[in-house]
Amino acid sequence: EPVELAAFINQVIEPYSEIAELDGKQFSTNLAATGTVLIDRQRMHQLLVILLDNALKYTEPGQAISLDTMIKNKQLVIAVNDTGRGISDAGKKHVFDRFYREDKSGSRATGGTGLGLTIAQWIVDIHHGKISVEDFKPQGTTFRVTLPIK
Ligand code: ATP
Repeated sequence: EPVELAAFINQVIEPYSEIAELDGKQFSTNLAATGTVLIDRQRMHQLLVILLDNALKYTEPGQAISLDTMIKNKQLVIAVNDTGRGISDAGKKHVFDRFYREDKSGSRATGGTGLGLTIAQWIVDIHHGKISVEDFKPQGTTFRVTLPIK
């Protein structure tokens, strides 16, 4: 369905910017992509919720989260960056696997099932897009979603 990007993103991030502020985390956006895209609004919302939940979960007060959009090579790029604890190189190979979690013990504080990113990958797949994980310099994690736009 046709979705107006800026309004959609702003609606998704509103609760997150509030929670981040209450947690003492900086939340910022750089929304360079504008216009209307054909996406499954509900599922794309869920995808961003998964990435933003993780960004909040794996950052401490004083750290930062940002969501950037841009159009590159006729593709919509959405990057969710955080300056949190980051993911090991070994972990990066597995974060999209079912039930994968970086700490097996002590996982209670940041509880979860390890299914979030598996669902995120599936949502990106049905949009014929790509999702990748990278280090955010100098510290933290970037999840980058690239979607073809018509
Ligand atoms: P849930 O299923 O509730 O989302 P989860 O966060 O454990 O639980 P995933 O979202 O699939 O599951 O993430 C898998 C693992 O990837 C996490 O357990 C965590 O180790 C790592 N991870 C995901 N996002 C980040 C992030 N932004 N920073 C650091 N580690 C992350």
